[in-house]
Amino acid sequence: MSTDRTKQLYQELVLDHNKNPRNFREMPDANHIAHGNNPLCGDKLTVFLHIDASQTVTDVSFKGDGCAISKASASMMTAAIKGKSIAEAEQLFHEFHDMSMGRLDLTKDPHHLGKLAVFSGVRDLPARVKCATLAWHTLDAAIKGEEIITTE
Ligand code: ZN
Repeated sequence: MSTDRTKQLYQELVLDHNKNPRNFREMPDANHIAHGNNPLCGDKLTVFLHIDASQTVTDVSFKGDGCAISKASASMMTAAIKGKSIAEAEQLFHEFHDMSMGRLDLTKDPHHLGKLAVFSGVRDLPARVKCATLAWHTLDAAIKGEEIITTE
């Protein structure tokens, strides 16, 4: 994909997911919950998971308030990990994190990011990295049973 096309797709996806966030709701029967906070930007979100006995994420949702990037990233995170095993979800978290830190070369390194690869541009915007990765750090905390994370 060309850089221009990636940028265009990024803008479309962020706009769309910010306007119509997927899985944006509380989950009364969640068995893993974590709160994420990015004080640098003011992004706050809660990730709800339902993980079954076979270690599969059968349901995932989020609530919160933040900038367009944090919200779009959270929305796309929930869409990406629903139905995945915990191991697959953790792998996506590591790939997304490495990509946003510029440590993953999308053209050479194997990855499973799919549409999430549109966030690769944040590696050039250090202040935005925390916005884009907040939902993923919060997901990781929820899986591990930690309740609160902050990016500071
Ligand atoms: Zn933000």
